[in-house]
Amino acid sequence: MARAASFVEGYRHLTIGCHLSISKGYLKMAQAAVSIDANTFQFFTRNPRGGAAKAIDHKDIDAFAAYCAGQGIHRVLAHAPYTLNLASANEQVRSFAFEVLADDLLRMEHTPHQMYNLHPGGNSRQGIAESIEQIAEVLNAVLSPEQTTTVLLETMAGKGGEVGASFCDLAQVIERVELDGHLGVCLDTCHVWDAGYDIVNGLDGALEEFDRSIGLERLQAVHLNDSLNERGSHKDRHAKIGAGRIGFEALAAITNHPALRHLPFYLETPNELPGYADEISRLRARYT
Ligand code: FE
Ligand code: FE
Ligand code: ZN
Repeated sequence: MARAASFVEGYRHLTIGCHLSISKGYLKMAQAAVSIDANTFQFFTRNPRGGAAKAIDHKDIDAFAAYCAGQGIHRVLAHAPYTLNLASANEQVRSFAFEVLADDLLRMEHTPHQMYNLHPGGNSRQGIAESIEQIAEVLNAVLSPEQTTTVLLETMAGKGGEVGASFCDLAQVIERVELDGHLGVCLDTCHVWDAGYDIVNGLDGALEEFDRSIGLERLQAVHLNDSLNERGSHKDRHAKIGAGRIGFEALAAITNHPALRHLPFYLETPNELPGYADEISRLRARYT
Protein backbone atom coordinates (compact mmCIF):
# COMPACT_ATOMS: atom_id res chain seq x y z
CA MET A 1 0.00 0.00 0.00
CA ALA A 2 2.67 2.47 -1.05
CA ARG A 3 1.47 6.05 -0.92
CA ALA A 4 3.78 7.42 -3.63
CA ALA A 5 2.67 4.84 -6.19
CA SER A 6 -1.01 5.44 -5.57
CA PHE A 7 -0.51 9.20 -5.86
CA VAL A 8 0.84 8.86 -9.38
CA GLU A 9 -1.82 6.31 -10.34
CA GLY A 10 -4.48 8.71 -9.11
CA TYR A 11 -3.76 11.09 -11.96
CA ARG A 12 -4.72 8.50 -14.57
CA HIS A 13 -7.55 6.71 -12.82
CA LEU A 14 -10.13 8.27 -10.59
CA THR A 15 -9.69 6.89 -7.09
CA ILE A 16 -13.25 6.49 -5.89
CA GLY A 17 -15.33 4.33 -3.60
CA CYS A 18 -18.10 4.57 -1.07
CA HIS A 19 -18.85 3.90 2.53
CA LEU A 20 -19.13 0.13 3.16
CA SER A 21 -20.13 -2.05 6.09
CA ILE A 22 -17.32 -3.75 8.00
CA SER A 23 -19.71 -6.35 9.48
CA LYS A 24 -18.27 -9.22 7.37
CA GLY A 25 -14.64 -8.19 7.81
CA TYR A 26 -11.93 -6.44 5.78
CA LEU A 27 -11.60 -8.88 2.88
CA LYS A 28 -15.36 -8.86 2.23
CA MET A 29 -15.35 -5.05 2.19
CA ALA A 30 -12.57 -4.95 -0.39
CA GLN A 31 -14.42 -7.53 -2.52
CA ALA A 32 -17.62 -5.47 -2.30
CA ALA A 33 -15.63 -2.42 -3.42
CA VAL A 34 -14.20 -4.25 -6.44
CA SER A 35 -17.69 -5.53 -7.34
CA ILE A 36 -18.85 -1.93 -7.91
CA ASP A 37 -15.66 -0.81 -9.70
CA ALA A 38 -14.38 1.08 -6.65
CA ASN A 39 -10.64 1.27 -5.95
CA THR A 40 -10.93 2.61 -2.42
CA PHE A 41 -13.60 2.61 0.29
CA GLN A 42 -14.52 3.98 3.68
CA PHE A 43 -15.76 2.05 6.71
CA PHE A 44 -16.62 2.59 10.36
CA THR A 45 -14.03 1.24 12.77
CA ARG A 46 -16.88 0.06 15.01
CA ASN A 47 -20.59 0.61 15.48
CA PRO A 48 -21.10 4.23 14.36
CA ARG A 49 -22.84 4.95 17.65
CA GLY A 50 -19.75 3.84 19.58
CA GLY A 51 -19.38 0.68 21.62
CA ALA A 52 -16.83 -2.09 21.54
CA ALA A 53 -14.84 -2.88 18.41
CA LYS A 54 -14.51 -6.47 17.18
CA ALA A 55 -11.25 -8.27 17.95
CA ILE A 56 -8.71 -7.93 15.13
CA ASP A 57 -8.75 -11.02 12.87
CA HIS A 58 -5.18 -11.30 11.60
CA LYS A 59 -6.03 -13.87 8.93
CA ASP A 60 -8.69 -11.56 7.52
CA ILE A 61 -6.28 -8.58 7.57
CA ASP A 62 -3.57 -10.58 5.75
CA ALA A 63 -6.04 -11.79 3.12
CA PHE A 64 -7.31 -8.23 2.76
CA ALA A 65 -3.80 -6.79 2.24
CA ALA A 66 -2.97 -9.42 -0.41
CA TYR A 67 -6.29 -8.91 -2.19
CA CYS A 68 -5.92 -5.09 -2.19
CA ALA A 69 -2.40 -5.31 -3.62
CA GLY A 70 -3.69 -7.49 -6.46
CA GLN A 71 -6.67 -5.22 -7.16
CA GLY A 72 -4.85 -1.88 -7.03
CA ILE A 73 -6.53 -0.69 -3.84
CA HIS A 74 -3.86 1.44 -2.18
CA ARG A 75 -5.77 3.66 0.16
CA VAL A 76 -8.70 3.13 2.47
CA LEU A 77 -10.33 5.51 4.91
CA ALA A 78 -11.58 4.51 8.34
CA HIS A 79 -14.25 6.72 9.91
CA ALA A 80 -14.52 7.27 13.66
CA PRO A 81 -17.94 6.65 15.25
CA TYR A 82 -20.30 9.65 15.02
CA THR A 83 -20.72 9.72 18.77
CA LEU A 84 -17.12 10.73 19.43
CA ASN A 85 -17.08 14.33 20.54
CA LEU A 86 -13.66 15.62 21.55
CA ALA A 87 -15.25 18.91 22.61
CA SER A 88 -18.39 17.75 24.39
CA ALA A 89 -19.64 19.81 27.34
CA ASN A 90 -19.91 16.49 29.18
CA GLU A 91 -16.62 15.32 30.67
CA GLN A 92 -17.64 11.63 30.43
CA VAL A 93 -18.38 11.98 26.71
CA ARG A 94 -14.96 13.57 26.24
CA SER A 95 -13.12 10.82 28.08
CA PHE A 96 -15.07 8.17 26.15
CA ALA A 97 -13.98 9.92 22.93
CA PHE A 98 -10.38 9.88 24.09
CA GLU A 99 -10.50 6.14 24.88
CA VAL A 100 -12.14 5.15 21.60
CA LEU A 101 -9.78 7.34 19.59
CA ALA A 102 -6.71 5.92 21.33
CA ASP A 103 -7.96 2.34 20.78
CA ASP A 104 -8.88 3.00 17.13
CA LEU A 105 -5.43 4.44 16.41
CA LEU A 106 -3.79 1.33 17.87
CA ARG A 107 -6.06 -0.90 15.75
CA MET A 108 -5.34 1.15 12.62
CA GLU A 109 -1.69 0.11 12.81
CA HIS A 110 -2.77 -3.40 11.74
CA THR A 111 -3.43 -1.75 8.35
CA PRO A 112 -0.51 0.71 8.38
CA HIS A 113 -0.21 3.95 6.39
CA GLN A 114 -3.94 4.47 6.04
CA MET A 115 -6.25 7.33 6.95
CA TYR A 116 -8.66 7.83 9.84
CA ASN A 117 -11.43 10.41 9.49
CA LEU A 118 -12.71 12.29 12.51
CA HIS A 119 -15.48 14.85 13.10
CA PRO A 120 -13.63 17.42 15.22
CA GLY A 121 -16.55 17.92 17.63
CA GLY A 122 -18.01 20.87 19.49
CA ASN A 123 -21.15 21.88 21.34
CA SER A 124 -23.52 24.81 21.29
CA ARG A 125 -23.02 25.68 24.96
CA GLN A 126 -19.42 26.79 24.62
CA GLY A 127 -17.77 28.87 21.95
CA ILE A 128 -15.82 27.52 18.99
CA ALA A 129 -12.58 28.85 20.52
CA GLU A 130 -12.95 26.73 23.67
CA SER A 131 -13.88 23.67 21.58
CA ILE A 132 -10.78 24.14 19.43
CA GLU A 133 -8.61 24.10 22.57
CA GLN A 134 -10.27 20.89 23.81
CA ILE A 135 -9.95 19.10 20.46
CA ALA A 136 -6.26 20.00 20.22
CA GLU A 137 -5.75 18.82 23.80
CA VAL A 138 -7.15 15.36 23.04
CA LEU A 139 -5.19 15.09 19.80
CA ASN A 140 -1.99 16.02 21.61
CA ALA A 141 -2.69 13.29 24.16
CA VAL A 142 -3.48 10.61 21.60
CA LEU A 143 -1.11 11.06 18.65
CA SER A 144 2.19 9.23 18.88
CA PRO A 145 5.44 9.71 16.94
CA GLU A 146 5.45 6.03 15.80
CA GLN A 147 1.96 5.97 14.30
CA THR A 148 1.73 5.55 10.53
CA THR A 149 -1.94 6.54 10.34
CA THR A 150 -2.92 10.02 9.21
CA VAL A 151 -5.84 11.46 11.16
CA LEU A 152 -8.08 13.54 8.91
CA LEU A 153 -10.22 16.29 10.40
CA GLU A 154 -13.46 16.54 8.43
CA THR A 155 -14.93 19.84 7.27
CA MET A 156 -18.36 20.18 8.88
CA ALA A 157 -21.73 21.80 8.03
CA GLY A 158 -21.81 23.84 11.25
CA LYS A 159 -24.74 22.30 13.13
CA GLY A 160 -24.91 22.87 16.90
CA GLY A 161 -21.56 24.50 17.55
CA GLU A 162 -19.48 22.04 15.49
CA VAL A 163 -15.89 23.01 14.86
CA GLY A 164 -14.92 22.71 11.19
CA ALA A 165 -17.59 24.73 9.35
CA SER A 166 -14.84 27.22 8.59
CA PHE A 167 -11.45 26.19 7.16
CA CYS A 168 -10.01 28.57 9.74
CA ASP A 169 -11.33 26.37 12.59
CA LEU A 170 -9.39 23.37 11.29
CA ALA A 171 -6.26 25.48 10.76
CA GLN A 172 -6.47 26.55 14.41
CA VAL A 173 -6.77 22.96 15.62
CA ILE A 174 -3.82 21.87 13.47
CA GLU A 175 -1.57 24.69 14.61
CA ARG A 176 -2.14 23.64 18.25
CA VAL A 177 -1.11 20.04 17.67
CA GLU A 178 2.51 19.16 18.27
CA LEU A 179 2.66 16.08 16.01
CA ASP A 180 0.81 17.87 13.22
CA GLY A 181 2.59 15.72 10.63
CA HIS A 182 0.00 13.06 11.51
CA LEU A 183 -2.90 15.38 10.65
CA GLY A 184 -4.67 16.02 7.38
CA VAL A 185 -8.10 17.20 6.26
CA CYS A 186 -11.03 15.48 4.55
CA LEU A 187 -13.25 17.86 2.60
CA ASP A 188 -16.93 16.86 2.56
CA THR A 189 -18.65 18.55 -0.38
CA CYS A 190 -22.11 18.49 1.27
CA HIS A 191 -20.70 19.93 4.47
CA VAL A 192 -18.69 22.77 2.90
CA TRP A 193 -21.69 23.69 0.73
CA ASP A 194 -24.01 23.67 3.75
CA ALA A 195 -21.37 25.70 5.63
CA GLY A 196 -21.57 28.36 2.91
CA TYR A 197 -18.64 27.75 0.53
CA ASP A 198 -19.71 28.12 -3.09
CA ILE A 199 -18.15 25.04 -4.65
CA VAL A 200 -20.58 25.24 -7.59
CA ASN A 201 -19.78 28.69 -8.99
CA GLY A 202 -16.63 29.47 -7.03
CA LEU A 203 -14.63 26.26 -6.63
CA ASP A 204 -11.29 27.95 -7.34
CA GLY A 205 -12.03 30.65 -4.77
CA ALA A 206 -13.02 28.08 -2.12
CA LEU A 207 -9.85 26.08 -2.75
CA GLU A 208 -7.74 29.25 -2.60
CA GLU A 209 -9.29 30.00 0.77
CA PHE A 210 -8.54 26.43 1.88
CA ASP A 211 -4.97 26.87 0.75
CA ARG A 212 -4.55 30.21 2.53
CA SER A 213 -5.94 29.00 5.86
CA ILE A 214 -4.96 25.31 6.01
CA GLY A 215 -2.68 24.62 3.05
CA LEU A 216 -3.82 22.35 0.22
CA GLU A 217 -1.08 19.82 1.06
CA ARG A 218 -3.18 18.89 4.12
CA LEU A 219 -6.12 17.87 1.95
CA GLN A 220 -5.94 14.08 1.62
CA ALA A 221 -9.48 12.89 0.91
CA VAL A 222 -12.84 14.14 -0.33
CA HIS A 223 -16.29 12.98 0.75
CA LEU A 224 -18.26 13.40 -2.46
CA ASN A 225 -21.91 14.04 -1.59
CA ASP A 226 -24.70 16.13 -3.02
CA SER A 227 -26.72 18.21 -0.56
CA LEU A 228 -30.48 18.31 -0.05
CA ASN A 229 -30.28 21.90 1.16
CA GLU A 230 -29.33 25.38 0.03
CA ARG A 231 -25.81 26.69 0.40
CA GLY A 232 -25.27 28.00 3.92
CA SER A 233 -28.16 25.99 5.40
CA HIS A 234 -25.93 24.27 8.04
CA LYS A 235 -28.22 21.22 7.78
CA ASP A 236 -25.94 18.30 6.74
CA ARG A 237 -28.41 16.18 4.75
CA HIS A 238 -26.65 14.20 2.02
CA ALA A 239 -28.30 13.64 -1.39
CA LYS A 240 -27.49 11.24 -4.21
CA ILE A 241 -25.01 12.56 -6.78
CA GLY A 242 -26.97 14.87 -9.10
CA ALA A 243 -30.13 14.77 -6.97
CA GLY A 244 -29.27 17.73 -4.74
CA ARG A 245 -28.40 21.43 -4.84
CA ILE A 246 -24.75 20.92 -5.79
CA GLY A 247 -25.51 18.84 -8.87
CA PHE A 248 -23.69 16.27 -10.99
CA GLU A 249 -21.72 18.78 -13.10
CA ALA A 250 -20.22 20.57 -10.10
CA LEU A 251 -19.33 17.27 -8.41
CA ALA A 252 -17.73 15.92 -11.62
CA ALA A 253 -15.77 19.18 -11.88
CA ILE A 254 -14.49 18.60 -8.34
CA THR A 255 -13.13 15.15 -9.24
CA ASN A 256 -11.40 16.68 -12.29
CA HIS A 257 -9.95 19.77 -10.62
CA PRO A 258 -6.13 19.92 -10.97
CA ALA A 259 -5.72 20.43 -7.21
CA LEU A 260 -8.03 17.54 -6.32
CA ARG A 261 -7.95 14.92 -9.09
CA HIS A 262 -5.26 12.79 -7.46
CA LEU A 263 -7.20 12.49 -4.19
CA PRO A 264 -9.39 9.56 -3.14
CA PHE A 265 -13.13 10.34 -3.31
CA TYR A 266 -15.70 8.70 -1.04
CA LEU A 267 -19.44 8.63 -1.68
CA GLU A 268 -21.60 8.89 1.44
CA THR A 269 -24.82 9.19 -0.49
CA PRO A 270 -28.09 7.46 0.48
CA ASN A 271 -27.55 4.33 -1.63
CA GLU A 272 -27.19 0.56 -1.55
CA LEU A 273 -24.43 -1.08 -3.63
CA PRO A 274 -26.22 -0.81 -7.04
CA GLY A 275 -26.79 2.91 -6.50
CA TYR A 276 -23.12 3.40 -5.62
CA ALA A 277 -22.07 1.37 -8.69
CA ASP A 278 -24.14 3.71 -10.85
CA GLU A 279 -22.67 6.88 -9.29
CA ILE A 280 -19.13 5.51 -9.65
CA SER A 281 -19.64 4.64 -13.31
CA ARG A 282 -21.14 8.07 -14.12
CA LEU A 283 -18.29 9.86 -12.36
CA ARG A 284 -15.63 7.64 -13.99
CA ALA A 285 -17.14 8.36 -17.40
CA ARG A 286 -16.69 12.07 -16.74
CA TYR A 287 -13.11 11.84 -15.42
CA THR A 288 -10.76 12.96 -18.15
FE1 FE B 1 -18.17 12.14 8.46
FE1 FE C 1 -18.55 13.14 5.37
ZN1 ZN D 1 -22.56 14.62 6.64
